Amino acid sequence: MNQPRRKPRAYAPDPDAPHQGCDAAGCAHMGEYRAPKSRSQSREFFWFCLEHVRQFNASWDYYKGMSPGEIEAELRADTAWQRPSWPLGRLGQTARMENSLEEELHAFTFGHARTPVKPATPPELRDALNVLGLTWPVALAAVKAKYKELAKRHHPDANGGDKASEERLKLINLAYATLRGKLPSYQATQAAAE
Ligand SMILES: [Zn+2]
Repeated sequence: MNQPRRKPRAYAPDPDAPHQGCDAAGCAHMGEYRAPKSRSQSREFFWFCLEHVRQFNASWDYYKGMSPGEIEAELRADTAWQRPSWPLGRLGQTARMENSLEEELHAFTFGHARTPVKPATPPELRDALNVLGLTWPVALAAVKAKYKELAKRHHPDANGGDKASEERLKLINLAYATLRGKLPSYQATQAAAE
């Protein structure tokens, strides 16, 4: 990635490292790599193992606005280093990277990158789709097939005239009517966009 770096840093153990453990909470390795506590206080350092100095440097922007004390508190928090979406995720960087990866995959699979990876469900269709157990995007043919299956399963005749089944079937009918009425306009839009 083309992130501006303060200076290219060779990851070599620091000869001046004090013989102490890594500053990352819960890490048992030796802290042999230094990282400045802040841009201004460059004479104060954290000491990390290789893995954690890399993580720290990669997350530098995340700590930018914090005082050294705040950074320290964050680093000492038990969960800080174990969190799967550790600072990078909060920065939004991980999400962005995943997005572009997804886009690349999509372009590879479908031959064009412009189509949204996963189109948002139209709000007016959400409830109806939930009732039928479908996810967006969906074709009208699939809606019809699913409707037939559910209507059969929840028909009161198939359930000894059960009241709950009858109510369920009403919802299913309503959901189907909604989708049958509105879906074609969405699919026309989709076809025009491709
Ligand atoms: Zn460590």
